[in-house]
Amino acid sequence: MKQTKIISKEEIAQQQAYAAQVKNRLQGKGMKAHIRTYGCQQNEADSERLGGMALAMGYSLTDDAEQADLIVVNTCAVREHAELKALSITGQFKHLKAKKPSLLIGVCGCMVSQEHRKENIKHSYPYVDFLFGTSMLYRFPEIVLTALCEEGRRFYLDDNTGNIAEEIPVHRESDFKAWVSIMYGCNNYCTYCVVPFVRGRERSRKKEDILYEVNDLIQKGYKEITLLGQNVNSYGKDLSSDYDFADLLQEICRIKGDYWIRFMTSHPKDASFKLIDTIAAYPNIAKQFHLPLQSGSDAVLEKMNRKYARSDYEKLVSYMREKMPEIAITSDIIVGFPGESEQDFEDTLDALKTIQYDNIFSFIYSPRAGTPAAVMQNQIPEEVKKERFARLLSVQSEISKTKNELYLGRVERVLVEGHSKTDQSMLTGRNEKNRLVHFKGGDALIGQFASVKITQADTYALIGEIYE
Ligand code: SAH
Ligand code: SF4
Repeated sequence: MKQTKIISKEEIAQQQAYAAQVKNRLQGKGMKAHIRTYGCQQNEADSERLGGMALAMGYSLTDDAEQADLIVVNTCAVREHAELKALSITGQFKHLKAKKPSLLIGVCGCMVSQEHRKENIKHSYPYVDFLFGTSMLYRFPEIVLTALCEEGRRFYLDDNTGNIAEEIPVHRESDFKAWVSIMYGCNNYCTYCVVPFVRGRERSRKKEDILYEVNDLIQKGYKEITLLGQNVNSYGKDLSSDYDFADLLQEICRIKGDYWIRFMTSHPKDASFKLIDTIAAYPNIAKQFHLPLQSGSDAVLEKMNRKYARSDYEKLVSYMREKMPEIAITSDIIVGFPGESEQDFEDTLDALKTIQYDNIFSFIYSPRAGTPAAVMQNQIPEEVKKERFARLLSVQSEISKTKNELYLGRVERVLVEGHSKTDQSMLTGRNEKNRLVHFKGGDALIGQFASVKITQADTYALIGEIYE
């Protein structure tokens, strides 16, 4: 097995030195960086590191691309739609470069870790100064310094060894909610998925580094910490000890404080009863489990290379509910996987009705270059995919609404996140089960836990009032 490359302290120090050189050059010029993020929580976590490094280089951060002297688009490749959005926004930045030729534009993340997309940007987006793949993130200071000092465009290819870089500066978007990556990459090669190709193979951070980071966040007053990995259940398998994800959770939850721990994502083939027992045993692990089923048909699961049958999955769900009757269970579902028959799809609808998820994230299958499913026979026509997608949503909407109605009259502990996007006069937050809760209250509650009495239940959110 190939060794994970640990980026040495010397290499990190070298990057810090590059950051200091950039800072020297930019001193007093009021330079601003704009980071635009697409995709999953891992990308958001990566962007917080890009932000931390930009600050170390002397840039301030801005949400307004028009103001920026440095723009980085952090891209996603999981579905075509995500790629098209990132390409379209990159295209829109062309006119900013025309107005301000000194503007630096970079594109990074999963999309550019694919050869054909790299070539696409190289040839069709000539105003992009640099590209760098996911494994090059820690070299951001060097990349910016080179762009400032030298003529010409640069394309930083991924080294496919898979690395781990500790002690990169991080600028966290929130001072009460934090992401903590516990591992990177994925070894599962689900046949539809591009992630193993763009994020490399599975590699776990050392438990000491994770515990240090989580402890530091809790001491700083963070109220919610989400542990991230493409498959957190295989945490530790690449390290030479028996210490697993459940052990890590237990050790984290012994840290004193008032906080919730969440984690994502769990692959059902690796979810253990030990993990479920751990969730049940520790009050500060939120009673919410995201366990993607993907399809309710065993034939489709097999073609997806998911390595479990629906009955295995349902056993996990039964055990969870036996131990924690109120646990919220959510899932990802793909509709229109190649060869999915009407009966296969109805099996998925049946799974939703049987399992009774609190919520699902549903996706129309999107062929990804280089993955086995993209070249499978019997690709499903777009209109069939769309029609199935609508049926899936309508079945789940009913279930979600009924589940939400169970909260009517109850008092829920809510971590208040900010103002509601649709109604600025309302605050919004999430309860332990990760349900959105809207209510009226003062700004002082933002970042705090509040008690909210639920008075109304919609399909996607609960509405309530502060309960003194
Ligand atoms: N590692 C996680 C998440 C991976 S991506 C997991 O295994 O659950 C998040 C979700 O995107 C997946 O769960 C899957 O439902 C969806 N997805 C991945 N590739 C896709 C594709 N090619 N088309 C449509 N949905 C896809
Ligand atoms: Fe993709 Fe499967 Fe890995 Fe998740 S487990 S990232 S779906 S290959």
